[in-house]
Amino acid sequence: MRRALAAITVLVWTLPADADRRIWRVRSGDALSVLAERFDVRVEDLREWNDLESDTIRVGQELLVDPEPDADGPRYTVVRGDTLSHIAARHGTTIEELRRLNPGLRPDRLRAGQTIRVVAPEGRLRIEYRVRAGDNLSRIAARHRVEVRDILRWNPRLSADRIRPGQTVLVWSEVPESVSESIGAPNHGRLVRGEALPPHPGYIIRDRNRAYGTLETILWIQDAFDAVRARHPGAPRVRIHDISLPAGGPMAGHRSHQSGRDVDISYYQRRCGGIPCPMRRLDPDDLDAQRQWALFEHWLKNDRVDAIFMDYRLQRPLYEAARRAGYSRAELSRWIQYPRGPSFPFGIVRHYRRHRDHAHVRFTCPDTDENCRR
Ligand SMILES: [Zn+2]
Repeated sequence: MRRALAAITVLVWTLPADADRRIWRVRSGDALSVLAERFDVRVEDLREWNDLESDTIRVGQELLVDPEPDADGPRYTVVRGDTLSHIAARHGTTIEELRRLNPGLRPDRLRAGQTIRVVAPEGRLRIEYRVRAGDNLSRIAARHRVEVRDILRWNPRLSADRIRPGQTVLVWSEVPESVSESIGAPNHGRLVRGEALPPHPGYIIRDRNRAYGTLETILWIQDAFDAVRARHPGAPRVRIHDISLPAGGPMAGHRSHQSGRDVDISYYQRRCGGIPCPMRRLDPDDLDAQRQWALFEHWLKNDRVDAIFMDYRLQRPLYEAARRAGYSRAELSRWIQYPRGPSFPFGIVRHYRRHRDHAHVRFTCPDTDENCRR
């Protein structure tokens, strides 16, 4: 309430005294207490509406005495150090537009606590996005369907190379904010506010209604395919099959895939025949191990995955591609089960039956999802 009333102040400055009966021009003998009684308001209201620091008023001064609620549009409360251009930038608008909305507004006389009318860019929602681990500005921009340069304009104090988890970034977006949450375990869990996997030049999606994940799962999938395409521009597309249903929970044909963190992906193959690489049972020689490694490497080195299920027979060419890419045996021992046998209990890439025609990737619990269980 206080905020809404204070907001009127800026408007008042501009209204001619006789243009509106809500404005009273102070006469000889007027005092705030007298005016309060006459207009049936409180002295503190008059002080507030008129931004008075004391009860002193002078003859000829114009006072707002009856602020009707002004419902047209949001308001912004000026904080120390603000400039009009800064405020305009943060609201996705221009100085000219702010001056039009707030006639008489003096850019050189902004005060902390003053409120001014602002209008959101047409059809957009104001989102205070909390930066998460692994975010960068292009990812945040893509998530909200805006450009990086827009985010920089809306956040004049932000520097692109110094964003950190927990920080708030202001975004004006046409798509609503989603705060996904993975709850429970992959075999017994659900997904809250799941994100749909968007199209990407690196893959096709079999059924978009079965391709929902946590926001992190969705971003990490896209990141890895970006990485593959950066290094192998000619890579064929692969097929993304199920992730989770929009709200997670049991899914026909799977025991897991319940909490938005599992995804089935066809393998990169030496010959995909000009179509997205199909789900078919591979022999080791069929695997395009170099590209497959580029995909897995991105998740492994960024600690994004708890497990990648892959038939043991296909692990050898993958392992050899990783060795050729410069990884030592010691480094790979944590990541790949091979060459220690399909029952060996360590390795993120590990054997699981029926994974000769696709890899099953299980992403880690997002830091912010406290009820996520591995
Ligand atoms: Zn699966």
